Amino acid sequence: MYAVYHGPAGLKQIATRANNHARVIASSLVAGGFTLASDTFFDTVVVNVENADAIISKAVEAGINLRKVGETQVGISTDETTTSAVVKTLLEVFGVQLSAPEGFELPEAMVRTSDFMTHPIFNSISSETQMMRYLRRLSDRDLALDRTMIPLGSCTMKLNSAAEMESITWPEFASIHPYAPAAQTAGWRELITDLEGRLTAITGYAGVSIQPNAGSQGEYAGLLAISDYHRSRGESQRDLCLIPASAHGTNAASAVLAGMRVVVVKTAADGTIDANDLDAKIEANKDVLAAIMITYPSTHGVYDADVREVCDKVHAAGGQVYIDGANMNAMVGLAQPGKFGGDVSHLNLHKTFCIPHGGGGPGVGPIGVGEHLLPFLPGDASGTYSERDGVPVVATAFGSAGVLPISWAYIAMMGGDGLTEATKHAILNANYIAKRLGEHFPILFTGNQDLVAHECILDLRELTAKTGVTAEDVAKRLIDFGFHAPTLSFPVAGTLMVEPTESEDLAEIERFIEAMITIRQEMDEVLSGAYSIEESPLRNAPHTVSAVVNSNWDRKYSVEQAAFPVASLKFDKYFPTVGRIDGAGGDRNLICSCPAPEAFED
Ligand SMILES: *Cc1c(COP(=O)(O)O)cnc(C)c1O
Repeated sequence: MYAVYHGPAGLKQIATRANNHARVIASSLVAGGFTLASDTFFDTVVVNVENADAIISKAVEAGINLRKVGETQVGISTDETTTSAVVKTLLEVFGVQLSAPEGFELPEAMVRTSDFMTHPIFNSISSETQMMRYLRRLSDRDLALDRTMIPLGSCTMKLNSAAEMESITWPEFASIHPYAPAAQTAGWRELITDLEGRLTAITGYAGVSIQPNAGSQGEYAGLLAISDYHRSRGESQRDLCLIPASAHGTNAASAVLAGMRVVVVKTAADGTIDANDLDAKIEANKDVLAAIMITYPSTHGVYDADVREVCDKVHAAGGQVYIDGANMNAMVGLAQPGKFGGDVSHLNLHKTFCIPHGGGGPGVGPIGVGEHLLPFLPGDASGTYSERDGVPVVATAFGSAGVLPISWAYIAMMGGDGLTEATKHAILNANYIAKRLGEHFPILFTGNQDLVAHECILDLRELTAKTGVTAEDVAKRLIDFGFHAPTLSFPVAGTLMVEPTESEDLAEIERFIEAMITIRQEMDEVLSGAYSIEESPLRNAPHTVSAVVNSNWDRKYSVEQAAFPVASLKFDKYFPTVGRIDGAGGDRNLICSCPAPEAFED
């Protein structure tokens, strides 16, 4: 959006201005008797001084942070926020007069001469009003949480409330450099330490690090801690990680990245870990067993009742237990992985703890660890990572610190009772959907007393065999009802995984159930021969405006059924801007959606 708003000319202007400020600073310093480390620079001038610490503290008094390059060198960087007033103050710190820029031009060979950002979108918006309309147009095309529940199982798409998010725009949080001196980040440190304490209380572990930038990076950091722990005990041969077949794809990838070998443990017919296979794999590998990675409740949406036994068996064989805590939405306030057998877990603050994650980031994947793994946590909130020799650093500074106030605010505003209530509500919502829809679509896995955890898997495979209607057809048809699709074909192909979260009220859940039951009736119509699967509204979904506003409409179902399959849609309708595309085809065939080559001819 920054690029769209400024365009290539604007960006060039911004860069030139930053460079000019740097040239003014360099010229003035040299005129005042200083020498530079280099005559060639873009925005960063490194100047030789007698005593770096002395000039840095003098600059701090004037409200400017300089970078200590060495005992006798400091770095000064300019950018688009640098003003002439800042430059003047800076030069006063050095005790030199302002001079006009002289020399220090960018070397010819480094100056870009080719065009860039030639796509029309970077060259068509020239007013703030148009920018506003562009943003609005994009958001109108989006089927987001401000229109519909996003029942993506395993993703926990919940409300990101304005009250939780407001503070991240405050300059006190937003305008601090990640490497600002410790004395200037006391508030940040307090917030981070407090948040780590709250997450420690929630998970039941001995300590938490907020370093990792994603759940997957938490897995990586947690497995490195496990490896280092084994090594510290002279057991560096322990390099094998057991992973149940039902695990999230990141688990195995992280294990490999952390240098471990992966052995897959089978899933039993009811979706739980196959106990016999687990015993056999532990026995066969007990001398090299480093860890098991399990997800609790599992990606099958059920609480494995024997989770303690699984943990005990692995511990008895000398292995560590990694409990993937991405499904913490089904546990907060009710159960603690640190207490029922886990040695490490990651949380997804961008799932359970309200950081928005549509569009892919930024995430935070803190890990909690037991007492014995505390020395192997990556980095800490002190920011002095280099002091911890041999301990890997997984992210610089405080990781994705900028979004931490969201999770802090969520936990602080909810309180212990509120968080527990939210968990219960999330579980109740999923079970309500499972019970109501269970009559129409079989629920694949259920645990004790036929209950699910915080999500449920609708098994369409038998219906698909009978009618030809696939899970993908259902996912696409849901768009016509104004719903974002549930998770498609994960963790079991041919199924839909639904996670409503506690953020949805009964009315929205009933709206979803009505849509799914209506879709089930359309499947019956295929079965009864009213139309073939190819002719059905299911296979032809989703329906765009131009599909239905069409005087040549010749389908076997009415325009009304296409666009308004339930009456409430007449009052509140979302039209997708594109019809069905072959998703897998798109994944396999990379295409460029830039303007045609002819557009670049002149
Ligand atoms: C989302 C998820 C992950 C990965 O987390 P990212 O933040 O996307 O890297 C790992 N395990 C499970 C069970 C998840 O749902």
